[in-house]
Amino acid sequence: MSEALRQFEAVVGKEWVFSSDEDVDLYRDSYSPFWHEPEERVPSAAVAPDAVEQVQQIVRIAGKYKIPLWTISTGKNLGYGGSRRTPSGTVVLDLKRMNRIIEVNDKNHYALVEPGVSYFDLYRHIQERGLKVWIDPPDPGWGSLIGNALERGGGYTPMRDHFDCHCGMEVVLANGDVVRTGMGALPNARTWQQYKYGFGPAVDGIFSQSNFGVVTKMGFWLLPEPEAYFSGTVMVPKEDDIHALVEIFARLLNSGVVQGTTSVLKTVDFGPPDPQLAAVRVGASTSDLERYVAQKGLGYWTLDLPFYGPSKVIAAQWEHAKEQFSWIPGVQFRDGASYTFPLTREAIEKIPEPRSAWNPEPHHVCDRRSVQPGPYVVFADHPDDRCRGARSDQGVRAGLSRSRIADRRASWSADLVVSSREPSSSSTSFLSSTISRRTVRNREIFRRLIKAAAEHGWGEYRTHTAFMDDIAEAYSYNNHALRRLHETLKDALDPDGILAPGKNGVWPKRLRRARA
Ligand SMILES: Cc1cc2nc3c(=O)[nH]c(=O)nc-3n(C[C@H](O)[C@H](O)[C@H](O)COP(=O)(O)OP(=O)(O)OC[C@H]3O[C@@H](n4cnc5c(N)ncnc54)[C@H](O)[C@@H]3O)c2cc1C
Repeated sequence: MSEALRQFEAVVGKEWVFSSDEDVDLYRDSYSPFWHEPEERVPSAAVAPDAVEQVQQIVRIAGKYKIPLWTISTGKNLGYGGSRRTPSGTVVLDLKRMNRIIEVNDKNHYALVEPGVSYFDLYRHIQERGLKVWIDPPDPGWGSLIGNALERGGGYTPMRDHFDCHCGMEVVLANGDVVRTGMGALPNARTWQQYKYGFGPAVDGIFSQSNFGVVTKMGFWLLPEPEAYFSGTVMVPKEDDIHALVEIFARLLNSGVVQGTTSVLKTVDFGPPDPQLAAVRVGASTSDLERYVAQKGLGYWTLDLPFYGPSKVIAAQWEHAKEQFSWIPGVQFRDGASYTFPLTREAIEKIPEPRSAWNPEPHHVCDRRSVQPGPYVVFADHPDDRCRGARSDQGVRAGLSRSRIADRRASWSADLVVSSREPSSSSTSFLSSTISRRTVRNREIFRRLIKAAAEHGWGEYRTHTAFMDDIAEAYSYNNHALRRLHETLKDALDPDGILAPGKNGVWPKRLRRARA
């Protein structure tokens, strides 16, 4: 390790290799579900290159000394973990310094960026130049476009599937070679950010949620600034109306009439606090709750439909959506927020939070270390589990019943998000700032939820590093054929097993016995 660190220093300069306890502590996962426990793994050092050529040299040195590297772009994957599953002796490959915005094109609507570019950076760049394109940030704007897209994160606008909206990558492989995907393989490529596939097998997917390479550039499609945004609310009165609500919504979403991310909310769980509701809830039956929401003029289920585009088109889309839902007896509609763009900074400030759909926001998460001693701090918004089910009323019900299991058994909360062809129920767990029985129990419950979901044919799409093996275990069709394929690729591309061993349940040959 000390020889490798010395060689890293020769590549990036002494000041960009971090090995003191104080520096390395900054790379610790503050939201680890194993905080202060013996299983909590912390990295040994970090190295921060500034250029692709430096990344190439670093992976070659790491290969020579069999030092595992864990790549981060801006390192803000809060709640989804850090280097926790990696073996001891891991060095964080920190790409924050590679933060160049190489191109933003507002005629063909794309950007090409390096890993250290955050949503805030790109937003500012666009605003300062008055470019007519939108980014699509996740709830918090703190992270990088590349880190979020590689983890297959999502936002709210029609560009909400961040990996799907990427176009072209530059990747450093474990042997130090540099590959450009799609049209980027043409020297002097002119359409790298416009046509994804180029020629031959498309390989971009193997670099997402993986440990097959270090991505050093990535292109993203951007949304042309729309003329307007409008949100229309649909409320239905009965619990059983969920069937019709979800079926109609699926048709609208799949036919492109509605194009953004939204949530199906059970009004009594998400409405403003109400002492009358607290009283009703004691031993409440479904019909008690239905009566309560009817008295309040609310729906049992609430669904907000987001629309982006020309005002006239939005008006027609909302009209059409209302026609479709109107055969549900007792359905109510409300016009919600409506904006035309561009908005001034003052106008944006007046929009009630959250306003992150097109405007990257800071996010408030308790710093675990500052809570001494706990009660409980938020582990993260949806750190450990996004359960991807089928988008059907059954899927929605399953998501909600998962939430109920979680709610009853420990300090969890959950909601149900619908963005594309499936709903995802997200669970939030609350962990103590000290080792506690509750933290241990929450981990057990989460593992049980993974198994229970798998038994029903649902699976998680993203998780904290601590649970990656558990989830990979559930994707077991044909004696783990997919994992065997992943590991065949891993052994071919990274025979020394230096890149993020164990990430997403993919272990290199030499460390496979480390699988939990
Ligand atoms: C309260 C809260 C709300 C959230 N809401 C959302 C949301 O709405 N939508 C959403 O998508 N996420 C959400 N998140 C998750 C989180 O904010 C994002 O995942 C964050 O954007 C990732 O930050 P980053 O880019 O710094 O990640 P990093 O830590 O830099 O990267 C994440 C992981 O990706 C891999 N990786 C990163 N860069 C590279 C690279 N260059 N090459 C190879 N592999 C790489 C590594 O495995 C790394 O550990 C939320 C989190 C919290 C706590």
